[in-house]
Amino acid sequence: MKIKFLGGAEEVGRLAVRIEDHDSSFMVDYGVIPEKPPEYPMPYEKVDGIFVTHAHLDHIGALPVCYHNDRPDLYATAMTASSMRPLLEDSIKIMDIEGYPQRFNRDDISSLFGSVTTAKYGESFPVGKFTATPYTAGHIPGSTMWKFENGSSIMVTGDLYTKDTNLLTGAKPVKADVLVMESTYAGKNHEEREDVVKRLRSRIKEVIDNGGKVILPSFALGRTQELIMVLAEMGLNVATDGMGNLITGIYLNTPGFLRSRSDFRKAVGKVRQIRGHKMREAALDNDVIVTTSGMLDGGPVLNYIQRLADDQESAIFLTGYQVEGTNGRSLIETGVLNIAGAPVRPSMQIEFFDMSAHAGHDDLISFVKGVDPQKIILCHGENREKLAEALSDYDVSLPMNGNEFEVN
Ligand SMILES: [Zn+2]
Ligand SMILES: [Zn+2]
Repeated sequence: MKIKFLGGAEEVGRLAVRIEDHDSSFMVDYGVIPEKPPEYPMPYEKVDGIFVTHAHLDHIGALPVCYHNDRPDLYATAMTASSMRPLLEDSIKIMDIEGYPQRFNRDDISSLFGSVTTAKYGESFPVGKFTATPYTAGHIPGSTMWKFENGSSIMVTGDLYTKDTNLLTGAKPVKADVLVMESTYAGKNHEEREDVVKRLRSRIKEVIDNGGKVILPSFALGRTQELIMVLAEMGLNVATDGMGNLITGIYLNTPGFLRSRSDFRKAVGKVRQIRGHKMREAALDNDVIVTTSGMLDGGPVLNYIQRLADDQESAIFLTGYQVEGTNGRSLIETGVLNIAGAPVRPSMQIEFFDMSAHAGHDDLISFVKGVDPQKIILCHGENREKLAEALSDYDVSLPMNGNEFEVN
């Protein structure tokens, strides 16, 4: 088997793994680095099929490019397939508004969705000489680790989270000969999730008891819904705004992916979904607003921050990883963010709560022990060496983008 990373080897973003043997070729993911403009992986090389791990743009953002002159079969869980559509359509809108080079068009997105076969966790199916099986990756609803067997076996984790959360059940290791694993948090461990949630809840309560409002900037996929669950029993007035509302609808209508769909439905019943300008004007009557974008680079969140900027009693609580160069990172590091071209320094309380959906260093090591592979290929990380050191009992590779290598 030959493996080549077209992107996402030594970096967090634009994952694209091409796998080939004598008779067939396929690819796992084809994402972008969500910069301005987005950075694409190396050019698409024709494959028989594409397997999608999950609907984050760093895994799917470049997929429509593959459908411009080709029609490879595309395999994804029903949840991933449904969640992808609004994100890809939004990417086209952003290309238009920002004047970025047009890398794909609406026809490419239609061809992509015309090529989708949905797959169910644990159910194997043949693809060429391979058998493919999806397993839950615990990262966001629908996220998948793909295992391929053709004599020997290879598993690609995509983004991985191994602990249970309010919304999802964590990923369990599956035996495989070759393990291609993400390593976003190599060298770093997370505070226990339960403790983080406890601290977040108590700080939210404190701010509200003192007469303030809490803004929770959130990713549309997974985090918005996780926070809806975290806030459900607190007896607060909670509003949600932005693309998260659309995704919440998809999560409610796609059975088989959440830890408890009925608990999620109940929690969603307690929040007010903001739709349109009028509702947005009145939204600050609520105690808490969960809204996109998660890294403060656009979306309704900026409107709310602008309106509350002078209120020392109010707070911005960030719960997601803030990539370098984003407004969110700037806010944490300097207290300043950019709104409509002007620097703003909110007087609000600003805090970070680590609710990462990526497994920490020790969790990744436990996962590897469960998989018990003969060979490990680390990708999707900037500090992979730290993990490689800790896994020195194994045969570990740290490929770079563009390297092609043989595994058996
Ligand atoms: Zn992800
Ligand atoms: Zn990722």
